[in-house]
Parts: sequence; structure tokens; C-alpha cells
Amino acid sequence: MKIFKTVKAIRHYLQSEKKMKIGYVPTMGALHAGHLSLIRLARSHSDICVSSIYVNPTQFNEASDLKHYPRTFERDVQKLIEFRNEVLFFPTDKEIYPDGQDKKINIDMGILGSIMEAKFRPGHFEGMLQVVHRLLEIIEPDCLIMGQKDIQQARIVELMLSRYFPEVELIIGPIVREIDGLAMSSRNKRLQPLIRDRASILYKTLKWATEAIDSLPIQQIKAEALERLSIPDFRPEYFEIVNAENLYPVNTVKGDINILACTAVWAGEIRLIDNMYLQKKL
Ligand code: AMP
Repeated sequence: MKIFKTVKAIRHYLQSEKKMKIGYVPTMGALHAGHLSLIRLARSHSDICVSSIYVNPTQFNEASDLKHYPRTFERDVQKLIEFRNEVLFFPTDKEIYPDGQDKKINIDMGILGSIMEAKFRPGHFEGMLQVVHRLLEIIEPDCLIMGQKDIQQARIVELMLSRYFPEVELIIGPIVREIDGLAMSSRNKRLQPLIRDRASILYKTLKWATEAIDSLPIQQIKAEALERLSIPDFRPEYFEIVNAENLYPVNTVKGDINILACTAVWAGEIRLIDNMYLQKKL
């Protein structure tokens, strides 16, 4: 695997591979099977897969979350080599933000800028857009692969692509889960064992909602889901039922639309997010 740490070096390399179709998977490292599934997806849509590991400071709203974010570079490299990943970009802050961290990307996020993650993590998506915009300028991929796990992030990136990178195709990969249903996440490593044992409550509640949708009104599902998630040490922030394409909240399940339930829950000191299709028609 080729590892590049500077913009100059990776751009020079990718210029020489210009005839190849490039699939790109941005990550913040502490790699797990979810990340690797995106690399597999990238391969099926391109000739060469570029992945990156960069813990982006501008998208963290809490200094302690940034400080404690797991950094496991050696292990990540080992996993990527075993997975036969071709190219890894591992830049420093200076490479990503040579002019400082203040330059914002100007896009209208609409309702996506004020609901769910945007509501509870102010500034998070602005920081995420900054780094994804910069990374896309550097890598110039043909397709960008992101996870359904962060569906609001993917939908906001989709808006940015249509404005700034219309030639880049967005491909969204399904959520990879642990055996008990907990969505894989780099933050899971930080869950205390007794809390980890009960963290499948997110999966169980989402699963319950997929059945309840046939018999209960949406408002009642949302209220009951919040109750089910409120077990000791767990504190739900939201449980929303939305149109899967634009993430607008829905009040009925009528019509041929895809519907997602999305949730965010504090599990002790760790914030977990997850989502699941309640209806898939398209
Ligand atoms: P992160 O390293 O957390 O920034 O995630 C990098 C990419 O992996 C994002 O596009 C995530 O949505 C995706 N991802 C994270 N967890 C999972 C998972 N459990 N299954 C599939 N994709 C995931």
C-alpha cells in the first residue's frame, strides 16, 4: 500500500494514475469492518481505491471528544494492507488547513442544517464540509463513498457535491453491525463494559419501530421509542422518523417513499447514533 502524508505527493501520484477511475473513502481512522465495507464498495465502482485517515478538528464540538478520539494508526495500516487497500492519505493539520481553520464552505443546508445532528451538534456539519471539500479538491475522485450510519452527513455532502463537485458520484454504503446489532463505530471502544453490554438498545428500539410502523401512529412510535431508549445510563437526544431522501420529518407512512428512523443517544459519556429503514419502496 502506498501511504502519502503531503498534498503534493499524493497529487503527483494520482496525476500519473489519471486514466484510472478513483473511488474515495474518507475516514477518521480506528478502522473497523464498517470502514472496510466502504472500501469494498469503492472497489466495485472504480479502478483504484484511495482512503484517508484524518481526525478533523473543526467538526468536533467538544474538545474532550477530539482529545479522546481513538487514534490507532499502526493497526489501521495493518488492516488496510491485509484488505489490499491501494492508496492511503494520512495528512497533518497543516496540509489540510494551510491557511488556518476559518474558511467556511458556503452552502445552504436548508432544514438539514437545523434538525437532528445539526440541532444537537452546532457547527459540526460546517466543520465536516470544510474538510470534505478540501479532501475532494486534493483527491479529485470519480466517486465518493460514505456510510448510511451518518446519513445526515451524507445528504449534506450530496448538496455540496451538486454545487461544487457535480462530476463526483456519491455512493452510500449500508450500516455494518456487531453481532448484538450495535452499529460499528470508532467510539464504541470507549464504552464502559457494563454500558457496552446494554448498547444494543438502539438496535432493538429501531427494530421495534420497523414493526410498530404497521400499527401505530408516527407520533406514538417516536414517544415510545424515547421511553424504550431511556434505560439506566442511557439518555436519548432524539428519535425522528424522516423521508430517507431529504430527511424531512414525516407524519404518515402513506405513499411510495423511503422512510428512516434516526436516533442519537448518550450511553454514559459516549454519544451513539444509528438509523434504520422503516419503509423501503424505491
Ligand atoms: P468515521 O471514521 O467515523 O468518520 O467514518 C468514516 C465513514 O465510515 C463515514 O462515511 C461513515 O458513515 C462510515 N461508517 C462509520 N461507521 C460505519 C458502519 N458501522 N457501517 C458502515 N459505514 C460506517
